[in-house]
Amino acid sequence: MLLNLVIGDIQRGIDAAERHLKQLQILYGSLPETRCHCNRPGACCMFLPQMTWMEAIQWFQYLIDLPVTERETLVRKFLTFFLSNPARRDHCPFLDDDGGCGNYALRPFACRAYGMWSLKWGRQQTGQSREGKKALVAMWRRYGIELPEETATREIDYCDQVTVSGNAPPSDDRLMKHLSRIHQLDDAQSELKHRFEEGYQSDFSALMASLVWGPLKANLNKYAVIKDMVQKGSDARLKKLLTKATDPF
Ligand code: SF4
Repeated sequence: MLLNLVIGDIQRGIDAAERHLKQLQILYGSLPETRCHCNRPGACCMFLPQMTWMEAIQWFQYLIDLPVTERETLVRKFLTFFLSNPARRDHCPFLDDDGGCGNYALRPFACRAYGMWSLKWGRQQTGQSREGKKALVAMWRRYGIELPEETATREIDYCDQVTVSGNAPPSDDRLMKHLSRIHQLDDAQSELKHRFEEGYQSDFSALMASLVWGPLKANLNKYAVIKDMVQKGSDARLKKLLTKATDPF
């Protein structure tokens, strides 16, 4: 089965998603609000959040509705994230300079629930993520590239400085049920969801790069950029690719 997605697929997804995007907002709205009390706002936004297909669709809708120059800036930020991660420290393209979220109303469930999970659950997830990053370092090593360990495996400890509005945070069990209902919204577009998950590992930046360059060229570009960064300390290729990149919408 074809796994890559093209602009026509994204538009098809958006056209059929109106009801499900409303349901997504209702599900978001039934979560309590959180407040961050640490002195490093935005530190937990170092990476792109995990997201479902419907959550990706609402980000695409957001991008398409932006004025062209704003969209081009954001597209380049996503391409930068895709091409340079994990060779250098970066952050979610929506992170503002002051540490706030530039797309707060449409932040995915992963961002909304961060800090609501129990410390035990959160620390388990952090541990799994660290192991995943070690596997990533090993994979790049097989391609002959030794990633900078401290950058490639960095992962902040699960935050214990988040408070939840209302009496008590939802239990892990309740949060899992909530997440499951969000995942179920994708069932209405199961073929597109499958391609997003299998073709791009649900990575919005990888899909964006694929829309701009095609899937093969996107990965070859990434390999060449990471190699230059790690082995020559140069981001000249990254800058050149970004200058030439065109708005896929
Ligand atoms: S979407 Fe917003 S809250 Fe989520 S990681 Fe990006 S900047 Fe942070």
